[in-house]
Amino acid sequence: MIPPNHPRYRSLLERERLVEGFREGYVVPQGLIAQGRGECFDYLLGEETQQFALEAITAAAAALLLAKHPVISVNGNVAALTPREVVELSEAVPALIEVNLFYRSREREDKIAEVLKRHGAKSVLGVGDDASCTIPELFSERRRVSCEGIYKADVVLVPLEDGDRTQALRRLGKTVIAIDLNPLSRTAQAASITIVDNITRAMPRLVDAVRRMKNASREELENVLKNYDNKRVLASALLHISKRIEELAKNIRES
Ligand code: ATP
Ligand code: MG
Repeated sequence: MIPPNHPRYRSLLERERLVEGFREGYVVPQGLIAQGRGECFDYLLGEETQQFALEAITAAAAALLLAKHPVISVNGNVAALTPREVVELSEAVPALIEVNLFYRSREREDKIAEVLKRHGAKSVLGVGDDASCTIPELFSERRRVSCEGIYKADVVLVPLEDGDRTQALRRLGKTVIAIDLNPLSRTAQAASITIVDNITRAMPRLVDAVRRMKNASREELENVLKNYDNKRVLASALLHISKRIEELAKNIRES
């Protein structure tokens, strides 16, 4: 039992969810390590959704609502951390859901689809023979995608993506929305829209934003995207970390 007054309470609960996914066989050990790398950046960011993330979330909602063929890509960590929000988002947009794994196995695909279905997903792409199209230039199993899903998509939400794949999707001309706590990762730098935040805080906010903006006109949504600058957002995230560290250092010196 984790005491609720523990300063890292939320973070420890998230770890528990990943460990459970690991025990159930759909989170890989590398996924546990990836979470740890993310946690470190969350520490530096202050473990709260910041203004630059809200700005990216608004742009992401606009891109998803404007898309002709939006797809949400799900891996083991996403299934463990925000399965309900994936389904809610897919219904709110509406968007397709596709399982896409770096370490692909039929067993993991099935288990992730099962988790999503348990949370209300009606259909999940990218399982078994459905993942029969390939993304050129990629050598991991992640190049295998559903011909009806990511292959055809114009906008792909890739919470917790790897850098190579983000770059490959961009080269195919797709709009890529990433959620990544590390503003310096290749994923964060290569995405069209980068939400620098923890997936567990960003996903519910993205669902809210889509619901809120659902009745906006195309022109309004296009204006949101026109005024959005991902480089400025990434720079704001880095400046936030830098200012925060300076303040913390000052506080320690003066205490
Ligand atoms: P890249 O491949 O993009 O260059 P990387 O190789 O440094 O990145 P990976 O190991 O591919 O990183 O993925 C781990 C990254 O995923 C972490 O650095 C972190 O930023 C991100 N991440 C992990 N857990 C979360 C989370 N819960 N919410 C948001 N981002 C997360
Ligand atoms: Mg990587």
